[in-house]
This record gives sequence, C-alpha cells and structure tokens, in this order.
Amino acid sequence: MTEPHARPNLPAPLGLLAELTHRCPLACPYCSNPLALENRADELDTATWARVFREAAALGVLQVHLSGGEPASRRDLVEIVAAAHAAGLYTNLITSAIGLDPARLSRLQEVGLDHVQLSLQDVDADIADHIADYAGAHARKLAFARSVVERGLALTVNAVIHRANIDRVTALVELAASLGAGRVEIAHTQYYGWALLNRQSLMPTHAQVHQAMQEVERIRPRYADRLVIDLVVPDYYARRPKACLGGWARRSLNVTPSGRVLPCHAAETIPGLEFWSVRDHPLRAIWMESPAFQAFRGTDWMTEPCRSCALREIDFGGCRCQALAIVGDAAATDPACELSPHHARMLVLAEQDSVDADTSYAYRGRKVRAEAIAIRTR
Ligand code: SF4
Ligand code: SF4
Repeated sequence: MTEPHARPNLPAPLGLLAELTHRCPLACPYCSNPLALENRADELDTATWARVFREAAALGVLQVHLSGGEPASRRDLVEIVAAAHAAGLYTNLITSAIGLDPARLSRLQEVGLDHVQLSLQDVDADIADHIADYAGAHARKLAFARSVVERGLALTVNAVIHRANIDRVTALVELAASLGAGRVEIAHTQYYGWALLNRQSLMPTHAQVHQAMQEVERIRPRYADRLVIDLVVPDYYARRPKACLGGWARRSLNVTPSGRVLPCHAAETIPGLEFWSVRDHPLRAIWMESPAFQAFRGTDWMTEPCRSCALREIDFGGCRCQALAIVGDAAATDPACELSPHHARMLVLAEQDSVDADTSYAYRGRKVRAEAIAIRTR
C-alpha cells in the first residue's frame, strides 16, 4: 500500500457513496449504473467495507450513502450498516424497498440506520411497475415507506423524472407528503449509463419541463412547514451547469462494488482515467494522490471559456462526464453552460429526442444488442 504525501490545503470529503452491489431486482431504464455491471463474485466483503468506513471517517467523511444497485441484495446489509455506524458515520440507505421486510428494517434501525431514501417511479402503480419492469413493486414501496415512518426513521422520497411521468410531478409531491416523507427530490434524469442509452425514450419536451417547474413552485408553499421539495432545472434545458458534486474530487467519493474509487458515479465513462482500488491503497492515498482524482481537481485543467470565467470556482466548469458525452472532450466546458460553443447542440439533441416516437426502453441489466447501443448513442 502507498502512503500519501501531505496536502494541507486539500478539502476533506464530506460524503461517501458506497455502491454495495450492482445487483438489483428492478431494471429502471434511467439507471445511472454503468452498462457493464460488476459481478457479485467481485464485490468487496463485509470486513473490507468496514475498513473503508473507518478510513472514510478518519479522512473527514460525515455521511455514507449505501447504494447500488439495490443494497438490500447484500445478505450482509445489517452488518454493513452496523460497521458504518460504528465508524461514526451518518448512514443513509438508498433503496427500492425490494428485499426489505419489516423484520429486516427493524434490524437495520437497531444497528444504527439513520435515514432512508426510497425511489418511487410514479403515482400510478401500473406505470410505475412498467418503468421498473417489476410487477407489484409500487405497492411494496408504499408499504415500506409507511413502515419507515412508523419506526420514526427519516424518509426522503426520490422520484426520477422523465417523459412518461413528468406530467404527474404534483401528484408525486402529494404522494411523498401523504407517506410522511420529510423531503422529496424531484430529480430529472441525468443522462449517463442506461439513461444515456434510453435518452430518446426518456427526454421530456421543453414545454413539459417548464410546466412541471411551474407546478412545483405553485404547490411549494402548501408544504412549507413539513416537506422539503428539491427541484432543479434539468441540464439539457438549463443555461448554467450545476457544480457537479460540488466540484470534481472536492466533496465526495464513490466506491464501486469491487472497490474502485471514483470522483463521481459516472467517471468510468471517461476513457484513460486511472482509478485506484481500496483493495490496493488506503482511502486517504486515493483521495489525495490517485490519478483519476487529480485529473480535474481545481481549475488548472480548464480550457476557455471556463479558464477566464468569474464563475469557475462556483460551478467548476460543470460535469466532466456530460462534456465527454456531448462534446467528446472531458476537459471541455459542460455544454449545459450557455457560454459553451456546444450549448445549442445540446438543446437540439434534447428537442429531437423529446419528440421521438420511440417509447420502448432498453431495460437496465437486460441484454441489449450492440447495434441497438450504437444507434441509441449516435
Ligand atoms: S435506478 Fe432502478 S435499476 Fe437502477 S439501481 Fe435503482 S432501483 Fe435498481
Ligand atoms: S464558462 Fe465554465 S465556469 Fe463559466 S459559467 Fe460556464 S461552465 Fe461555469
């Protein structure tokens, strides 16, 4: 194992996204997991995750987000949550609810689970189950949400928004409130991984986005005292990019099921980056020294217009993976920025896809023919 050199000015990460597994009973076509899913045989064992949590806490991490795939697919989920809690981390379980019966949820709470983030696909059970490609999932999610709230656990509802459900954002907020959630994230699809493959079937029209944003702002006051509503303009229709994860390698790190450590969950789409593994290096060394974390940290890597822009330390040039996906250059300005020479192209892509008649999905994890991938990622 290597030891890091001292970097006194480097900020500490605050959050760790622990992708415990890529296995998932659902098959959402907007899933941000990579097209090449990792195998169960390659997953880190319980003891290694426990070491990673201790190293994360020592590095300054405060929160661990236990994700996947579906984290409940891990038989040792209770032991993993216990290890994260013992390391002093605030534990957030990001789940589809499938695989979590009341007894298992009780065990998770007993060993220190702090917060649950539940995904909902829609308010209409048939449409929700169609999107997840799992019959009966929606009903199980609702029962699970009630079980979470009954136990006094904090609940966030996460609803990924796309063309098939964007007309029901108000109903999604109302459903989250009725379930007793303290927060709802109206999260527009981010087009990486399976979502990029399905962009033509998922992209809403500009008019739908505008309408949905207005509706949420209209009902926000109604829930001001009991429900935090998170909503941001989707990148393809935005004028400025988001500071993706607060800037590359500034605030968080992501450990894949097999132990590779990424600055963001889509970073492996960028060719040529070298990712270190927790199997070979301590987390501190990876955070400070690994090539992938160094690649776009700070502002030295920037080209124009970001290099001379007053906002470069506010949004850090936006998302590197989106720059690669749209512009073909991970070091380019995120095309979501209207100062990018490629901004207009992004809008054209969105408008073309949003009126595409194809509403069939390439479901996550299902076999997809290579020709279909080539056509869809044209
Ligand atoms: S987005 Fe859907 S398919 Fe992907 S991990 Fe979450 S529940 Fe599973
Ligand atoms: S030019 Fe770069 S730094 Fe300036 S607003 Fe656009 S993305 Fe942000």
